[in-house]
Amino acid sequence: MTDRVIAIAEGRHTKPLPEVGGLAAPGKVVDRLGRSIRDLRISVTDRCNFRCIYCMPKEVFGPDYEFLARSQLLSFEEITRLARVFRSHGVEKIRLTGGEPLLRKDLERLIAMLAEIPGLDLTLTTNGSILAKKAAALRQAGLKRITVSLDSLDDDVFRAMNDVDFPVARVLEGIDAAQRAGLGPVKINMVVKRGVNETSILPMARYFRGSGHIVRFIEFMDVGATNGWRMDAVMPSAEVVRMIAAEMPLEPLDPNYRGEVAERWRYRDGSGEIGVISSVTQAFCSECTRVRLSTDGLLYTCLFATQGYDLRAIMRGGASDEALASAIGALWSVRADRYSEIRTAETAALRKVEMSYIGG
Ligand code: SAM
Repeated sequence: MTDRVIAIAEGRHTKPLPEVGGLAAPGKVVDRLGRSIRDLRISVTDRCNFRCIYCMPKEVFGPDYEFLARSQLLSFEEITRLARVFRSHGVEKIRLTGGEPLLRKDLERLIAMLAEIPGLDLTLTTNGSILAKKAAALRQAGLKRITVSLDSLDDDVFRAMNDVDFPVARVLEGIDAAQRAGLGPVKINMVVKRGVNETSILPMARYFRGSGHIVRFIEFMDVGATNGWRMDAVMPSAEVVRMIAAEMPLEPLDPNYRGEVAERWRYRDGSGEIGVISSVTQAFCSECTRVRLSTDGLLYTCLFATQGYDLRAIMRGGASDEALASAIGALWSVRADRYSEIRTAETAALRKVEMSYIGG
């Protein structure tokens, strides 16, 4: 699939911070394309107990793969400090992700620390494997909502996609536990890979229709450099919508807010809604208000980036909160990336950072 893959632990490519004149005060900043920062995704671990074929293929992330050492990870105190600074720049929503975030030890403590920041919508994306055990504690710590990834209800297909033989029933138990704990409506992410799980689309829509949960069908993306992405494995969202609507009539819904990545559809009979995320066939870069913090404190302004800004070095170098805010404001103000709008076969082959490290 690939030649040699650079392990996260040794592939830390950083960009120099842009020059700023004096200290910029916290406040809303806009980038060169007029976009503000609204949504911060924080990867709390680069490790995962699944080896999803489109994300962390086993051949690459095998027993010898070198993940980050504990000392390289941002501490909970460092994450919370950065979250406060981002909040001062207008961030409204934080999503904890990874890797598998529920594998990070004492995650509930981090959630409780973040939940104290006023005005933040706090959510998390998980593969659901240990959610049944953790849902109540997560809610109690202050988590507001949750997204669970689930690529098929067919046990054989699901086991083949997670590639660690994990049964679908345990993820469904996790979704039920999340709902009972008050983390609903649960969003359910299904990555659609043509030739692998498109026959799971209709069963997924049927199963969750009327449940209050919202399934979002995601186009297979060329994230990272190891997932063997090819355009012909992408099933365009328009096809997914057509397929579902032919059996369960749909109508479009307005976005909840400007820049929402999922395009929303509702069942005409009032039995719920679905979403489609079309990063490949309908790029939404012009509305992108997201920024990503890697497990070791590099800041990436694009999911498809090859380099990040080293906020950990700034923090561990003794910077004040004002200096941190100023650095973040400066790097956001020079942002001009719009990868999905300029994607070609050549860009798809770039050495982009892995999604498990940068956070999905
Ligand atoms: N481990 C958690 C999980 O499984 O949800 C969080 C991390 S995972 C990287 C976040 C999301 O990214 C998941 O919903 C996953 O399906 C999605 N994802 C990973 N690789 C992808 C790809 N190549 N294309 C589209 N979505 C992808």
